[in-house]
Amino acid sequence: MNPRATALLLLALAGCGTTVPASHTTLAPSHTTLAPVSRATRGVRASATSRPTHHGTRPGLATSQPVATSQPTSQPAPFVPTEPLRCGSPVGQRVALTFDDGPSRFTARFLAVLRRRHVRATFFVLGRLARRHPDLIRKIQADGHLIANHSYNHPLTGTDDEWRRQIQRTEEAIRAAGAVPARYFRPPHGKLTPQLRAVCRELGYTVVLYTLLSSDWQRPGVEALVRQVTHRAAPGGVVVLHDAGGDRHQTLEALPQILDNLKRNGLRLVPVDELLGPRPQVLPCARPRVR
Ligand SMILES: [Zn+2]
Repeated sequence: MNPRATALLLLALAGCGTTVPASHTTLAPSHTTLAPVSRATRGVRASATSRPTHHGTRPGLATSQPVATSQPTSQPAPFVPTEPLRCGSPVGQRVALTFDDGPSRFTARFLAVLRRRHVRATFFVLGRLARRHPDLIRKIQADGHLIANHSYNHPLTGTDDEWRRQIQRTEEAIRAAGAVPARYFRPPHGKLTPQLRAVCRELGYTVVLYTLLSSDWQRPGVEALVRQVTHRAAPGGVVVLHDAGGDRHQTLEALPQILDNLKRNGLRLVPVDELLGPRPQVLPCARPRVR
């Protein structure tokens, strides 16, 4: 059996990349993001953890009108893996920091911290906020970060057409701001249904989940946040922080220490395209340094 087939088999056995059952998406105790979990269940547990609900979502934005896919016909279709990805290869000691739910009034300060430390990251933005803050979208791109898609208004559920609109409206909002949207999508609340997965594939989007969902949105304290990310970020991992969705002072204050600690631990911080490569593979994710 070739290495890729072996990896896929291991993943299948470990349950990685499986859809989070709806029953697992209910509010979990806050300590679940910090509690050690087995390799086999980590991704599912992380995906199932409760998420902030204060995004001011406005249901009913999506329409049932058929929409044309935005796939250019003159270029070859991008490679889209069949499974969602949680991590890249541990080889190269790379880690991707991702910032979800923005842009917001905090984003420019996050950018300043990243700029001072010469770190490039990925921003999974909401289309409705991209529309509101086109200047911030341009600034994110000007600083060399990747701008990815986190839906238009962070809905929990939707029909196929509604998800299509969520993704495409966000893509349009990023373009309207003058930036280039990357074809990576992270489902709101980490909830990926087979139906949403199919829509992502149809639109040429790679689904990017994560290995570490930080509890920054719960504001656990700067020290706790620094410790959590420093200890649990592993080579090849994808870390979620938030630059929006509430008061992000703690995340902002923790970020310089997080960046310094990860670098001190020998990790290289890169955007997700650099972590995953042009033909992303579903791989077993490395264990964190400290359990
Ligand atoms: Zn989110």
